Amino acid sequence: MIASGAAIDIPNQMIFDMLAESASRNPDGAAIHFMGHTLKYGQLLGAVKKFMGFLRSKGIQQGDRVGIMLPNCPQYVIAYYAITGIGAVVVQVNPMSTAPELSYLLEDSGMRMLILLDSFLPVLEKMTERHALQDLVVVNLQGGATDSLPTQAVSFMEVLMAASPAEPVKNLSPADTLAVLQYTGGTTGRPKGAMLSHRNIVANAIQSTHTVENGVRPDDITLAALPFFHVYAMTVAMNLPLVSGIPLVILPRFSVQDALDAIQNYKITLFPAVPTMYVALAQAVTPGSDILSSLRVCNCGGAPMPVKVLEIFEQVTGATVLEGYGLSEASPVTHSNPSLASRKIGSIGKLIPGTSAKIVNPDNPAEEVPVGSEGELAIAGPQVMLGYWQRPEETAAVLLDGWLLTGDIATMDEDGFFSIVDRKKDMIIASGYNVYPREVEEALYRHPAILEAAVIGVEDDYRGETVKAYVVLRPGMSVSEEELHAFCREQLAAYKVPRSFEFRDSLPKSAVGKVLRRALKS
Ligand code: AMP
Repeated sequence: MIASGAAIDIPNQMIFDMLAESASRNPDGAAIHFMGHTLKYGQLLGAVKKFMGFLRSKGIQQGDRVGIMLPNCPQYVIAYYAITGIGAVVVQVNPMSTAPELSYLLEDSGMRMLILLDSFLPVLEKMTERHALQDLVVVNLQGGATDSLPTQAVSFMEVLMAASPAEPVKNLSPADTLAVLQYTGGTTGRPKGAMLSHRNIVANAIQSTHTVENGVRPDDITLAALPFFHVYAMTVAMNLPLVSGIPLVILPRFSVQDALDAIQNYKITLFPAVPTMYVALAQAVTPGSDILSSLRVCNCGGAPMPVKVLEIFEQVTGATVLEGYGLSEASPVTHSNPSLASRKIGSIGKLIPGTSAKIVNPDNPAEEVPVGSEGELAIAGPQVMLGYWQRPEETAAVLLDGWLLTGDIATMDEDGFFSIVDRKKDMIIASGYNVYPREVEEALYRHPAILEAAVIGVEDDYRGETVKAYVVLRPGMSVSEEELHAFCREQLAAYKVPRSFEFRDSLPKSAVGKVLRRALKS
């Protein structure tokens, strides 16, 4: 059965137009708060136009790739809107990239210019080959000049002072114009650039406003603590507030204390985050305290939200968490729980407007499975990518007749709520039985001593694979392997119960806090 979200009108516009419209509605409204400074909508638009003038003066043209390797900061937003404004392509670069990782991105994307933080310059110096990279723009977060810039580099601040403003490119088709290369698949192989068009990104910013209970209000204010280079933050923490004309408070990096201070000082209402951030905040807040009382909607996505974590966070803080789902290839949001009154805890919610989905046989995507059965989630909608950059075969493997195969195993119930059972490739096969790590992790999270848990399959001569759990205990708590085994056995079929447990101080995580199961395997 094909399920569809409500109908929605997506304007036929470019990314730049979203910002220009918000700025023309309210030029004096605050757009960005950052380290004690405020940038109004009119000022932000002015800075974007100057940066567009600079890009043009450097010969950057439509279709050229320009990398952004920055922590969250106003310069990120300015560069992103300016690059896409002249029809060039943003390459999102993880600011934690090592020299080999950056080298791979430069080569794969054919990047001509890179905008980076001054403290990342040593990464470039370690590289032997710079491929097509010609120009560097260096950002200093204090707004000052950087000592001893490399020869091909200019300072971001000087660019903004010196450049003449330019107007955006006109008469391009938003559906056909590439805007962003969003590298993904780093946990499963060499990263591939998901090609997101202007239409993909504009559509998803507008579609995502429906993940906010009762819609975005003029007095809403977003905390941008997730890193913008990640697709979830790009859309929900940056583009969603800017298309809605509300302010965003930008944190250069997430720390519990900075997040708590920002929430209190700015009376934050919208807080998109990943499960690990909710774990950390719930631990830091005394139950009953009204420190987080301004929060209206906490969107959670990017990784499964363990039910226990959601319950603890809501109990301690009184805030509401609405879990959603998405992936880079869908710009990213496709699902969300619509509201506190109509949510199903543990599910990723319903399809957002303009999106369709079906559950198909993972071995034969042409065949749908019956409602309620497990299968691979397939998505269609205006947010689905154009394909992978220069990878026709990999594109053909995931885009079939307009449907995106997500690689996630899911179920859909009679009410149109979807649940992610697991990722296709994370599935463990023990003695011929399928075990989904997610289910075992959920069981472990219910134990009071467990702070974090991750489950993988390890090779076993007899069973093929067996289940192994890595656990991090809450401070001051202890539990033995035998006790955990017995605890799981109470909840899970014998073949799903971990055969071994390893106690760790922390788990390896990606930049947005996703546990990297693959790193545990190596
Ligand atoms: P990325 O493209 O790096 O954002 O990763 C997308 C993947 O994250 C999806 O394909 C899912 O496997 C996973 N994911 C995102 N949100 C959720 C969620 N709410 N529950 C379970 N898995 C999720």
